[in-house]
Formats: sequence, C-alpha cells, structure tokens
Amino acid sequence: MSAGWFRRRFLPGDPLPAPRPRLRPPGPRTSPVPYRRPRFLRGSGSGPGATDVPRRTDARPVRCPARGRTLPWNAGYAEIINAEKSEFNEDQAACGKLCIRRCEFGEMEDQEWLTVCPEEFLIGHYWALFDGHGGPTAAILAANTLHSCLRRQLETVVEGIMAPQPPMHLSGRCICPSDPQFVEEKDIKAEDLVVGALENAFQECDEVIGRELEASGQQGGCTALVAVSLQGKLYVANAGDSRAILVRRDEVRPLSSEFTPETERQRIQQLAFVYPELLAGEFTRLEFPRRLKGDDLGQKVLFRDHHMSGWSYKHVEKADLKYPLIHGQGRQARLLGTLAVSRGLGDHQLRVLDTNIHLKPFLLSIPQVTVLNMDQLELQEDDVIVMATDGLWDVLSNDQVARLVRSFLPGNQDDPYRFSELAQMLIHSTQGKEDSTTGERHVSYDDISVFVIPLHTKSQGSSGH
Ligand code: MG
Repeated sequence: MSAGWFRRRFLPGDPLPAPRPRLRPPGPRTSPVPYRRPRFLRGSGSGPGATDVPRRTDARPVRCPARGRTLPWNAGYAEIINAEKSEFNEDQAACGKLCIRRCEFGEMEDQEWLTVCPEEFLIGHYWALFDGHGGPTAAILAANTLHSCLRRQLETVVEGIMAPQPPMHLSGRCICPSDPQFVEEKDIKAEDLVVGALENAFQECDEVIGRELEASGQQGGCTALVAVSLQGKLYVANAGDSRAILVRRDEVRPLSSEFTPETERQRIQQLAFVYPELLAGEFTRLEFPRRLKGDDLGQKVLFRDHHMSGWSYKHVEKADLKYPLIHGQGRQARLLGTLAVSRGLGDHQLRVLDTNIHLKPFLLSIPQVTVLNMDQLELQEDDVIVMATDGLWDVLSNDQVARLVRSFLPGNQDDPYRFSELAQMLIHSTQGKEDSTTGERHVSYDDISVFVIPLHTKSQGSSGH
C-alpha cells in the first residue's frame, strides 16, 4: 500500500470502506456460523433470516418476545433491524439463568462442605447485548458462548463468593483461606471475585471467538454489554459503546461508560508510543484538530500526545501529515480509519484496508464492571435498568429515556408484559416520531436492541430472585 493511495481514500468525511480480512485460515474449515435471532424471540413471528424485513425504514417491525414467554425477572426486550444498513441485524441478545455449581466433582462426599452448602447450585441471572460489526457472526458466537465462559469462571471462585461477609469470620472461612491476612489488608470482597470472573469470561470468550472465526473462515467483531445478578448485587460489564442506565423515580444513574477511540485516546496513543511498529510508518499517533495537508508544513498547530489531557502547539513536520491513529469526532471517530469502538470481542483478523496493520493490539476485550448493591437501594416498583445498543443512545439521552420510562410504567401496572411494551416504545421513539415535550424528531439509522429489567421483586413476578 502506498501512503498516497491511503490519503486519497481516507479524506475527512469520506465514507470508510469495510476492511477486508487478509488472513486465510490453514487447513479445513468448519461450517460457517448460521445467522439467527435470539432464541427467546421464537414464536414472535421473527424468522431465522432477515429477508422478510421491509426496505422502507418507516415500516420496519419492532420485535419482542411472544406474550407468554417470560424472561428472567420478567424483563422486557425489543429489537429492530435497520433494513437500509445491512441485510442482517448485527445486534444479538441473550439472557437466562446462571446455574453455578457450588463445588467441584468429588467434593460432594465432603460432609462438612455439604453442611455449609446444602444446595448444589448458586443461582444468578444474565442478560447480554452484543452489537456486531463486519458481519453478524462474532455477535452470534458471543451470544452462544459468553454465558458458559462466565459460569465456568464463577465456578472457579464460587467458594470465595459464598464465603461469609465480612471476609474474616468466626468460622475461619474467608475469600481465600490460604491468605486471610492479605484478603483483610486489601479488603478483597466476594464482589471482587465476581468482577474478576466477568473480566476472565470476556477474555475467554474473545479467544473462543477468535478460534471459531478462523476455523469457519468468517470475520467480524462485536461489543458486549452484560448484566448479571448474583446474591443481591447487579454487575454491569461493558466493552464497547452500548449503555446501561438505572432509572428510578428521582434518579438516573449511568451504569456503564462507552469505550471508543476518543474516550480511550491516551491508552491507544500510549501503545503506539511504546510499540511504534504497530503503525508501520503509515499513521501518526498525535492528535490534531484536523487532518493536516502539505500546505500546513511549518505552520503552528494544536496537538496532543499520549501523556497529555491538555493541548500544546507544534510546528508541522512531514511525519505529521500521515493519517491520524484516531481520526474524526464523536460518532465519526475511527481507530486506524476503520473501527468506531476500542473495546469488544473478536476482530482477530481485522487489518487496515490493503495493509498489514492489525487493529487487534489496540482493542481491549476486557470490560469495565459496575456493581450495584440492590439490597441498599430501597427499591420501588418502577425502578428499572435499561440496557441498549448504541442505536438507541444515538438519538435519545439518558434523561429522555428516563422521562419515557416514567411516563409509561405508572399507567401500565396491570400489564404483565409492560416491560417489553416499554422496550418497544423506546425503539418507536427513535423512528422519526416527534417528541411531544420538545417537538424534536429523533431518527436512528442503526440496529437497536433493548432490555428493560425491573429491579423490584413485585414487578418480577414468579420469575424473580
Ligand atoms: Mg450499533
């Protein structure tokens, strides 16, 4: 690839071409991963493919689970495909019960253990959204895999999770019996083990996706947003640009942060500083206010490097004319001119178009985890978590979503499927309808998936804790 070709194709504002994988896996391939929608949508009228999706954006159907199909905690779900964007819905979703075996095989004969843990399983619940790019495959693999990775990781630390709190206890059991003093000094709690299990599960799932994609000759990546309930706490793990918020009568609380090339600029620049070979001499790691051209040589411009949150000046040199490592603003910001997110799963084969420059070293599969202690919240009946892919948040703010939640739920208390109705209503609010309070029109051009999870046991019905 010549630098000249690259500059010609990636002018600011130009639509970026889809990157092409350059690797071909050795040996025989397994079958391609088939396209599908979430299992809990079966019977809702959604077919396995998307060919029945109308091409007119104003006629796209919003899909939700069939009435009679109950999700964990009576959660609601809805989704829409943007038929103008791609043939397939690149979002995926999964949810279910997490059955975590309390002890390893062979320990059941231990009578002392049986006294402490009379039941075989620790039960949690799981909701997950995946927003795919470069095709739907990575998101499908993540929806098929991540919960199993998480269950395995939780089983490796279940003894510590089940240990009495605070860590040290008269029984002598603590999170890690071999190092009780360290546990106490570091104030390591059971929730730290769950956070570690989530981090390890994302990492493990990323490795599985890498192997599966290579074996099947497919490509792509996805973001991942996961909520897990366990022992009175809700854990929200996010890698990418989906979002979860807590909506209460008097409070809107973000439960996740978005990870994009802009929000992780310094981490990405730092990596390029330590390993400049990752840029193959084709990119500059420095950030400038705009793409510099030959006319700017010798001029004084604003810039910032990996160690700077503020700005400084520099005289433009020839190396500064290379394409920026991170380019564009807001939703248009791209890593290496290619990707709009900086964390997620997959993308093992992704390279900058017609180059040997890999994106994977700059991507993190590790989530940021937020812990919500529900036992301390004094929950009310209409308290909910709203989880959604970026297509919703492109056009609705946290406060707008909270306003819609508060206006919908009180008038629909008797409808057992009100949370899916609410999820549908949120999606409808992104399809060009006028906001009655502001008069604004909101239109999303992305696929959207939404979970609405009620936190109060009364709203959860028989599917609750
Ligand atoms: Mg999206």
